Amino acid sequence: MLNKGQSEEELFTFLAQKKQEDLDHDFILSSMCTVPHSVAVRAHCMFMETNLGDPGLFPGTFSLEQLLVHRFGSLFHCENAGGYATSGGTESNLQALRLAKTQKTGISTPNVVVPESAHFSFKKSCDILGIEMRGVSIGNDFRMDAENAAGLIDKNTIALVGVAGTTEYGMVDPIADLAKIAQQHDLFFHVDAAFGGMVIPFLDRPIPFDFSLPGVTTIAVDPHKMGMSTIPCGCLLTLDPHLLNSLNIDTPYLTVKQEYTLAGTRPGAPVAGALAVLDYLGIEGMKAVVAGCMKNTERLIAGMETLGFPRAATPDLNVATFVAAKDAVPAPWRVSWTRRNHLRTVCMPHVHAGRIEAFLLDMQKTRTR
Ligand code: PLP
Repeated sequence: MLNKGQSEEELFTFLAQKKQEDLDHDFILSSMCTVPHSVAVRAHCMFMETNLGDPGLFPGTFSLEQLLVHRFGSLFHCENAGGYATSGGTESNLQALRLAKTQKTGISTPNVVVPESAHFSFKKSCDILGIEMRGVSIGNDFRMDAENAAGLIDKNTIALVGVAGTTEYGMVDPIADLAKIAQQHDLFFHVDAAFGGMVIPFLDRPIPFDFSLPGVTTIAVDPHKMGMSTIPCGCLLTLDPHLLNSLNIDTPYLTVKQEYTLAGTRPGAPVAGALAVLDYLGIEGMKAVVAGCMKNTERLIAGMETLGFPRAATPDLNVATFVAAKDAVPAPWRVSWTRRNHLRTVCMPHVHAGRIEAFLLDMQKTRTR
């Protein structure tokens, strides 16, 4: 630590320099996060000092969290769903598996059945919770094979997981079939809709993935991805409004006597930001955002194929993947690469139509050089 503090000007000159070292969002095609909506930033700034870890001190902010859960509950066809605002998909997935473990006691070697396409947060969660992770193979359509999933379930299985919007290929697993399998085996069924939860309900033809399907126990959705909130903001939803209480531990010195959340201190600011975006845009506004992202995805796929980069998959959501050489993409564009070595791009709200055309032009120049 510095012995003597810096002047504010010195300090902020330094911080501005560091900020400039970050990549401009104009060139980021690899991220599932985006530039926060202006109303999210404004709401975030209003609630900067709030701590949801001690909700009795911030009852107004706490009621915003409850409203956020209620908004998602009704969007996902369960008006009285339970839930809370997490730090993102990783925490929601971890807490869902933790919940599943509490529901089936007496199993010494628990396992969960998870698609091989699942986000690496499940690996972390299983490590932490001491659960075996059984990977279900992915079909040629890049979706989880429901029959294979059923074949991996045994008496030690505590949960089944499906992904509604895979990180790498933007696919939605056959959630309806998986929900039936979960029901047949009386299994906890968690749907990871961290990305898709803020896309699928706003598509022209929504794909069933939520509490409208009997058998779905919990859903993860991330406002800090397609919800354009400030970071960090995820949300874990439970069909049973009281399910989270099974994680309660005593918190003697707080305004509440028990809590089920993972973190203690929790920021209210991104929760206000997330709710602000939902209430500012409404369903119509979100439909417009999603329609724009899907149109841009289609344009990107068509443009790349014209340049000789075939699609790797036809995505359900706004993730476009291609067969391409690792050096195909010129700087300063940032794309990512899937585990199967496909070039991966995500058409987030900041990836406007003009940015797609600029990217295609640069890809063309590199190709003809
Ligand atoms: N689940 C899915 C489907 C994701 O795409 C991601 C991140 O991209 C996560 C979970 C993890 O979310 P976070 O990085 O917010 O913890």
